[in-house]
Parts: sequence; structure tokens; C-alpha cells
Amino acid sequence: MKATRIPVWLMTGYLGSGKTTLLRSWLRDAALQDAALIVNEIGEVGLDDKLLGQAVDSASLISSACICCTGLPGLQDALENLWWDRLHRRRPAYGSVVIETTGLADPRSVIDAFETVPVLRERYRLAGVFTAVSAVAGLDLIEAHPEAVAQVSAANALIVTKCDRADGAALERILRQLNPRAEIVLSRNASLGWPSAMAMANAAGRPTPTPPWRAHVPTDHGTSAHFVPLDAPLTLAALNAQVDALQGDTLLRLKGVIRLDDGALRDVQWSVGDRDIAVAPFAGDVPRLGLTCIRALENPALTTKPPPFVF
Ligand SMILES: [Zn+2]
Repeated sequence: MKATRIPVWLMTGYLGSGKTTLLRSWLRDAALQDAALIVNEIGEVGLDDKLLGQAVDSASLISSACICCTGLPGLQDALENLWWDRLHRRRPAYGSVVIETTGLADPRSVIDAFETVPVLRERYRLAGVFTAVSAVAGLDLIEAHPEAVAQVSAANALIVTKCDRADGAALERILRQLNPRAEIVLSRNASLGWPSAMAMANAAGRPTPTPPWRAHVPTDHGTSAHFVPLDAPLTLAALNAQVDALQGDTLLRLKGVIRLDDGALRDVQWSVGDRDIAVAPFAGDVPRLGLTCIRALENPALTTKPPPFVF
């Protein structure tokens, strides 16, 4: 009897699209409790695997390279290792695999790998490709970044996020033009549940890369990332000063965990298009305290300065 191939769900979306927030809620669904999770965070100190890993048995973090280009072999190894570990009972059996790409990934090479790499094709089945697009910043990002367009065109389920903060109607029209095959849903407050998301992907049919994707596979994605360690506890004023210093016209993303002088950990996040910097209590282990900044090397006119820091 031919072994059943394990379904794989691919989650993508540009920096700040809200994909991690959606994924966190989906992984709490009973249907994904036994999922194996692979998180790709390049140029950042891995946090998403910690945030997301609380919901599932284990999370693998690929932080050395982007899995759509230089890191694709690493993804293939991770999937193969998962399969062998499952076979030899070195880890709990998993019923599905969930992969979160970096915000800069062009997912088409990953989709293609499930068709063309024999070891993946025999063991895994790409069940759905979700792309989150922010209603706040999505139109600008699609205009400025080819990766954002690739993410949209590769999806079979498109989720317009943050519709509680901006009207998603104009963006939805553009998305329909870019990808007429995909199912589209407008989401408010990350409220789209996993059963609905899965139903969307299934209704849209099999995800297939849009040829000719090989024409352009970027390797640096036109951005730079650097990490600013902030090991000592900070006063609010010192944190404000630090965020001010990191601002600039090319900033796409600011993200990390810091410790305030009251001893509490805080999750700090800002993405292009956001009006305010989001600060929230953080519980859990952190590999390193500090802030990761991702900047665009081109299109400086796109980005806007983050606002004054508000608590
Ligand atoms: Zn890449």
C-alpha cells in the first residue's frame, strides 16, 4: 500500500503582514496540535519559533539562510530529518507540517521543490499556500517589492489582514487581478480561524507556482538586517531614545524583546504602515535581548518614519 503523503501548509506574507499572529491562533486549533512547525527567520534573533512553538510539540528554526533561495537545501534537509525522526520514533508522530517563511521570501521555489525534489514529492503533499497581506500597507508593498507580488501570485488562499484598521476593498481588487485563482478573505483582528482557512485553501485547488518563476530568484531581497543588542535593563526614556536612533526612511521592520528597569520583558514590534509601535508583555525564553532592524536598500521613498514612541 502506498504510504499517505503528509500534508504541508505554507504560510507567507511580507514583513509586518500579521502572518505570525494568525499562525499562533491556528496552531492552537485541535486539528494542528500534532503539526510539526518549521520557522524561517533570517537576519533576526529567532523569536517566532519560541512564540509559535508553545502551541505544538516542537518547532524547527532555520535562521542561517532564507528558504526561498540560499536556504532551500536547508528546508529540504529539515523536512527529510523530520520524516526520519518520525519513522524512528525520535519525535512524536505529526499529522501535518506548517512552514512559516520569512517576510521577504518568494515562495514559488519552495512550492516547486515539493513537485521536483523526489524525496519531498514521495513523502509530502503541499496542501495549501496562505499569503497574508496587510490592508494597511499591502498596496504600497506590492508596488515596491517583487517578493510581495510573488507571495500573492503563489497563494491559493489570500488573507487580507488588519481590516479593522484599514479598508481592504481596493487591495482586494488588486489581489484578484494578480491572482484570479486564489480564494480571498478579509480578516479583522486576526479572527480568521483554522477551519475557515483550511476550507479556503481546499476550495481554491492545488497550489502551483506561476511560471516563469525562475527568471528572477533574489538572494538578498534588497534589504539588510541588523541586530542591536540591549542586554541591560532600560528605562522607558532610554528605550524611546533607542527607538528614535533606529528610525529612518528605509526602516521596514523593528522587532525584538527588551527588559525594562522594572524587570519585566516587553515584546516590541513595528512594521511599515503602522502608526504606533506595539509594546506588549512577553513571557518565555528569549535567545537575546535587543531589537532587529530590517531596512530596504532600495525604494527609500516607500517607507515612512515610525511615529514617536507611545505607551
Ligand atoms: Zn529568499
